[in-house]
Amino acid sequence: PVVTRFAPSPTGYLHIGGARTALFNWLYARGRDGKFLLRIEDTDRARSTPEATEAILQGLRWLGLDWDGEPVSQFAGRERHAEVARAMLENGTAYKCFSTAEEIEAFRERAKAEGRSTLFLSPWRDADPASLPDAPYAIRLKAPRDGETVVHDAVQGDVTFGNEQLDDMVLLRSDGTPTYMHAVVVDDHDMGVTHVIRGDDHLTNAARQIQIYQAMGWEIPVFAHIPLIHGTDGKKLSKRHGAVGLHEYAAMGYPAAAMRNYLARLGWSHGDDELFDDDQARAWFDLPGIGKAPARLDFKKLEHVSGWHIARMNDAELLEEIAAFRAATGAAPLTDRQIGWLRPALAALKAKAKTLPALLEQAHFALVSRPVAVEDKAAAALDSVSRGILNELTAAVQNASWERDELEAAAKAIGESHGLGLGKVAAPLRAALAGRSSTPSVFDMMLALGRDETLARLQDQAG
Ligand code: GLU
Repeated sequence: PVVTRFAPSPTGYLHIGGARTALFNWLYARGRDGKFLLRIEDTDRARSTPEATEAILQGLRWLGLDWDGEPVSQFAGRERHAEVARAMLENGTAYKCFSTAEEIEAFRERAKAEGRSTLFLSPWRDADPASLPDAPYAIRLKAPRDGETVVHDAVQGDVTFGNEQLDDMVLLRSDGTPTYMHAVVVDDHDMGVTHVIRGDDHLTNAARQIQIYQAMGWEIPVFAHIPLIHGTDGKKLSKRHGAVGLHEYAAMGYPAAAMRNYLARLGWSHGDDELFDDDQARAWFDLPGIGKAPARLDFKKLEHVSGWHIARMNDAELLEEIAAFRAATGAAPLTDRQIGWLRPALAALKAKAKTLPALLEQAHFALVSRPVAVEDKAAAALDSVSRGILNELTAAVQNASWERDELEAAAKAIGESHGLGLGKVAAPLRAALAGRSSTPSVFDMMLALGRDETLARLQDQAG
C-alpha cells in the first residue's frame, strides 16, 4: 500500500510551494487507496512555533487536503531517533566521535588554508573500541568511503553522488539530540512511508538518507524530487513575485477547488488537460507526469482555472464558498433575505466571475437594502427624464408576468417612445436597483429581486 507524507517545518505560514508538495502527496495517495500522513518537523526548537503548526494545518484544511491519523511530531520521536543511532553503533555502521566543535573548526581552517578538501574525516572512525575516552561523543555514520550512492529518482532519474564527497554525517549530537537527516529517515521508516515526494532542494539529502537506510538494512522509499516553483520571470519564487502564502490566495477569493487544480498543474501535467476536478486529478496524478523544469507562476492561468471552477459549482456549493470567504474576511454572514435575492442571480453571476470577491462585487444589488445608496457615478443616470422613465416602467410592469421577455419588451417599448435605446433605459435602472453603474443585466436583477422589491426600489428613485 502506498504511504506518502507531508513534512513541513513549522517556522511560518504554508507557502504555495509547500502546499503544492502536500497536494502531490495527497493526490498520489488518494488515487491509490493509500495513506497520506503529516509530520511536523519541529526539531529546530528555536524556530518552531505552535502558531506556525496551526497555520500550516489551517492551510491544509482550507485546501481540502485531509490527512490520515494524527500529525506526528518529529521532536517527540527523539528517544526513538537516539535508539536507532545506538543500534547503528551496535551493528557497526556508526561510531562514536569525540572530536569537539573546536577541533573540527580548526581542521576546516587548516584545510582551507592549505587548499585541501574541508570534508571532515573523523580520526575516531577506526579507533580501537577498547581505548575510547570517557567524554561526550557524537554518533557518526560510518559512510562508505569509495564507490557511489545513487538516488533513483522518479523525477530526476538516476542521480549519482561520489561517496568521497559525502562525509560521515552526525546522527546523534554529543548533547544526545538527533540530527535532522537522521530523524527524517527514522520517521519515514517508522511511518511506513513508501513514496517521498518533496522539493528538489532535498535531492542531496536523499543521497545521505539512502546511506542511513542502507546502514539499517531498511527498504528505501521511492523518491520524487520536484522542481521548485518559479516566479513569472522564471526566477526562484519570492515575495516580489506577489503572493507566496496559501492564505493570501484564499484571501484573494480563489476557491480551494481552483487552487487544487492550479497547483496540480504547476509542475505536473496530464496531456493537454488544464481544467479538471478532484476525481480526475486523483485518477490521473502520477510521477512520470511531473516535469523536470521548474514551473512558473501564471496569474492569468489561475484566473482562468478559478473562473472555470466557480462556473461549475452548484448553488449550494457556491453559497458555501461565499459564506466561508466572507467569514474569513470578517464580513457578516449573508441574511436569508440577501441569499433569497442572490440565489436566483447565481447562474448569471458565476458565468462571469473569476474570483469570489469579483462575484460578490457584481452581487452588490442583492446585498444592499432600501433605500439603496446611489454612487456618484450612477447618480448621473438619474436625471429628470430617467426618473420619468422609471415611473413609466413601474406602471408598465406592475401587472406584467415577471418573466424576462415581458420585462425586456416593456423596457424596450418605453425606450423607443423616448427615442432611446435599451442602454439608456438600463442606466437609471442599474442606479435604482443597485446604486451602481456596473451591474449584472438589469433583467437578471429584476428577476432575482422579484416584483415587490424591484418596484419599491424603482419608486425610491422615480420622479
Ligand atoms: N521539513 C522539510 C521542509 O520543510 C521537508 C523534508 C522532507 O520532506 O523530507 O523542507
